[in-house]
Amino acid sequence: MTQLIRQGLNGSKPQQRMWRVHDMKDSYDVVIIGGGAHGLAAAYYLAKHHGITNVAVLEKRYIGHGGSGRNTTIIRSNYLTPEGVLFYDESVKLYQELSQDLNFNVMFSQRGHLTLAHTDSAVRTMRWRAEVNQLQGVDSRLVYPDELAKICPQLDLSDHPRYPIMGALFHPPGGIIRHDAVVWGYARGADERGVHIHQMTEVTGIDVQQGKVAGVQTDRGYIKTGVVLNATAGWCTLIADMAGVRLPITTHPLQACVSEPLKPFLDVVIVSGSLHVYVSQSDRGELVMGASVDPYQSYSMDSTLDFMEGLSGHVLELLPMLSKVKILRQWAGVCDMTPDYSPVMGLTPVEGFLVDVGWGTWGFKASPVSGKRMAEMIATNKTPDLIAPFRLSRFYEDALVGEKGAASVGH
Ligand SMILES: Cc1cc2nc3c(=O)[nH]c(=O)nc-3n(C[C@H](O)[C@H](O)[C@H](O)COP(=O)(O)OP(=O)(O)OC[C@H]3O[C@@H](n4cnc5c(N)ncnc54)[C@H](O)[C@@H]3O)c2cc1C
Repeated sequence: MTQLIRQGLNGSKPQQRMWRVHDMKDSYDVVIIGGGAHGLAAAYYLAKHHGITNVAVLEKRYIGHGGSGRNTTIIRSNYLTPEGVLFYDESVKLYQELSQDLNFNVMFSQRGHLTLAHTDSAVRTMRWRAEVNQLQGVDSRLVYPDELAKICPQLDLSDHPRYPIMGALFHPPGGIIRHDAVVWGYARGADERGVHIHQMTEVTGIDVQQGKVAGVQTDRGYIKTGVVLNATAGWCTLIADMAGVRLPITTHPLQACVSEPLKPFLDVVIVSGSLHVYVSQSDRGELVMGASVDPYQSYSMDSTLDFMEGLSGHVLELLPMLSKVKILRQWAGVCDMTPDYSPVMGLTPVEGFLVDVGWGTWGFKASPVSGKRMAEMIATNKTPDLIAPFRLSRFYEDALVGEKGAASVGH
């Protein structure tokens, strides 16, 4: 603080840059495509845990241009399958220590997460999830309206709404975070350890020779490398196509919005799968709200009035007290949706071409664990047990990891 005041008064010394600009080398040991939280986390852990620093992160625009700078920051591990719960739980634990690890405040606020049930079958799914969660040591349980009224008194728990609330899955460790800080913190940590971050550098081709990666073509020149990690989320099939790898992924827009800032009144994250909406209140007081993906495939990042109208109607069914609140802004990102709502991580038929994709509407929360485990995989050439269930080959081995009941609107 004293340093800040001193700098403000004499105004001369500029702050040190968070990450540097380097000349692009013509060869790197590892090239990571995509400067989102996943690509940057993988670079950070490669350098920090494995001493692999001859690494380039190539980003076609600016870091955080994709979902990592557009998401609504929900972090949780209350998934439906044991594989999913264990995987996301490691991420929640890494997030708990991230501010200290990166020496950068990522403002992780574990305020609790409620997934509402409006039908008998939804109550059954919440009970199922609670039991799977508890068996894996994750704190989550089914609560009924009497307890819900204490956890979130603002909810309309009467029988007035079209779909009255019958119960909820309550997950106390769930919460929200500052997404930009996560991106910037990983970028700074990777840069400090020698990783080169190249913004405004678009990958335009992948050079595959005799079934192995030999390099990548960019709009700034060719880079020789034996290892490429595709961490481009909504654009991942375009990159995979360049290597001749087909992914079972389609890209859909996902929209969100924030309200004008309000005095703090909501200290829990609320999600309704039946109404396709979720709401939390940021530390600035804005209500952060979103829905499911748009029902058509597109790379468009434009917002629509249709989304805003549908979302407003559904939010007011849950929280009628918000009827006079104004919307401040809305935006969209693109999401890489998989058939089973789980990610795709690891090897592909092309040697040296790895994927960390299929993050759909739920991938921000996995940035630390996927970064850590993909780095481990690159460094050791072995697939860590935790990510083995998410291998690409599961789609033709009849071994899907079905998370639709816990991942679609729940983010
Ligand atoms: C509105 C919205 C709300 C969401 N809410 C949540 C949430 O609450 N919780 C949650 O866990 N997840 C949420 N998500 C999903 C989450 O944002 C993503 O799954 C996650 O951020 C993906 O991170 P990433 O690093 O893999 O990819 P991204 O952050 O998308 O980064 C990929 C990068 O690749 C770059 N790129 C693409 N093509 C090229 C190329 N040819 N050359 C070089 N670079 C390229 C892009 O510019 C981009 O910056 C949400 C997403 C959206 C859009």
